[in-house]
Amino acid sequence: MVQLQNYINGLLVPAANGQYLPNIEPATGQVFSQIPASDAQDVTQAVRAAEAALPAWRRLPAEERGRLLVRIAELIERDLEPLAQAESQDNGKPVSLARTVDIPRAASNFAFFGTAAQHFASETHFQEGVALNYTVRHPLGVVACISPWNLPLYLFTWKIAPALAAGCCVVAKPSEVTPYTAFLLSELCLEAGLPAGVLNIVHGTGPVVGQALVEHPSVKAISFTGGTKTGEHIARTAAPMFKKLSLELGGKNPNLIFADCDLAEAVRTSLRSSFANQGQICLCGSRIFIERSIYEPFKEQFLAGVAGLTVGDPQAADTSQGALVSEAHLEKVLSYIELAHQEGGTLLAGGQRVQVAGRCAGGYFLQPTVFEGLAPDCRVNREEIFGPVVTLTPFDTEEQVLAWANGTEYGLAATIWTRDLNRAHRVAHALHSGIVWINTWLHRDLRTPFGGMKNSGVGREGGLEALRFFTEPQSITVKL
Ligand code: NAD
Repeated sequence: MVQLQNYINGLLVPAANGQYLPNIEPATGQVFSQIPASDAQDVTQAVRAAEAALPAWRRLPAEERGRLLVRIAELIERDLEPLAQAESQDNGKPVSLARTVDIPRAASNFAFFGTAAQHFASETHFQEGVALNYTVRHPLGVVACISPWNLPLYLFTWKIAPALAAGCCVVAKPSEVTPYTAFLLSELCLEAGLPAGVLNIVHGTGPVVGQALVEHPSVKAISFTGGTKTGEHIARTAAPMFKKLSLELGGKNPNLIFADCDLAEAVRTSLRSSFANQGQICLCGSRIFIERSIYEPFKEQFLAGVAGLTVGDPQAADTSQGALVSEAHLEKVLSYIELAHQEGGTLLAGGQRVQVAGRCAGGYFLQPTVFEGLAPDCRVNREEIFGPVVTLTPFDTEEQVLAWANGTEYGLAATIWTRDLNRAHRVAHALHSGIVWINTWLHRDLRTPFGGMKNSGVGREGGLEALRFFTEPQSITVKL
């Protein structure tokens, strides 16, 4: 049984209360590790350690801070295989996905912000003969990073790396559902020689550890990725304390497939955007709108692709669909499948739990599921399911599909499939969506602003946006 520890003030330690929580492997349904059941005492210790480390860390030249971050990136790359195995065991995702997406991206996050810190410049505004105005960007201080379970190390490091690069000290909380790679990261930080207290990782539940972090008066900013309801709660807690907030929340992303698209490519990529990571990526497209003249050929090719997906042991090389992250989440997704039937949908594929033989007999597996015939404004088409369930809907005009695409409370990501350049830009600008991909999906350049509109979030991550978030601008004017 693996026993995880907190990482506080440069030491691996149990929770102050000595308690542990069980951590389940989704592919087997068995407990495989224990995580510290930390509480407010551990958060207080971690914040104190971060405060003590702050003066030296913020004074360190950006180049030296960057070098440490690049060293952590190199260690993640060195440990690619054990980290991928750990991520797959903890989350249920195919190990092939963790090996090619999650872990390489975690390394890139550290390498990107390790070097970005050296290129982060502040502005000067010169008024000829009158004044020189310049902006200093001070690190905010001690900040909190709170992340979800779907891309555990990928999203955890996407927050921590820019915060450290900007000169902040961090208290971070990974999801209690997938804490394993965050623990392995703390071991790599020790090996890299990161000074004690610069990064602290406290394990435990959201309502206890997360809440204590959000409430702590010394925490100046909260970078949070997770559900919209949790984000709302965090905003309500943090707002009266005037904390800076970056909230990356839920989505209900549309794919807009026009008749003039490259159909084979649109089908291939839509299969990935529907079912990658069992549909548990905030950027997955779950509402597929298809121009009526190509609805039948799209449907036929898409369903043929779905039939070729293999649900099974995440460790098996030929598995494309692993387990859902937990029994509770599986039950939630199944309840939406039931709702889709009640709302009059026609089931085209899947819809059932999968019983995988052998070591995975107790795992949380679900068939990739496709419905058609649901109204664009029904609950299944408005609410985030966050699983391998998509709907197909034909449309007739650009105006109609835009109204449907924009017709939810969310606005995270969208894809447009067309060969008409004018339409591509016109539709992209009209979408209420923080991220729009044209003829592609999940193409990421870490310099671009990342985040959602409407109830999908507040603020943007990525590139300079993240470094700006973790700094406080100060404007200084010199009279000439
Ligand atoms: P969640 O909101 O349940 O939990 C996210 C994190 O918040 C966890 O670490 C949890 O412990 C913590 N938390 C819970 N209650 C808290 C509280 N009161 N105070 C502080 N922290 C608290 O989300 P989840 O189920 O882990 O993740 C799935 C959700 O995340 C989906 O809605 C998905 O769309 C969203 N997500 C969004 C993005 C994005 O970039 N917009 C990326 C990935 C996932």
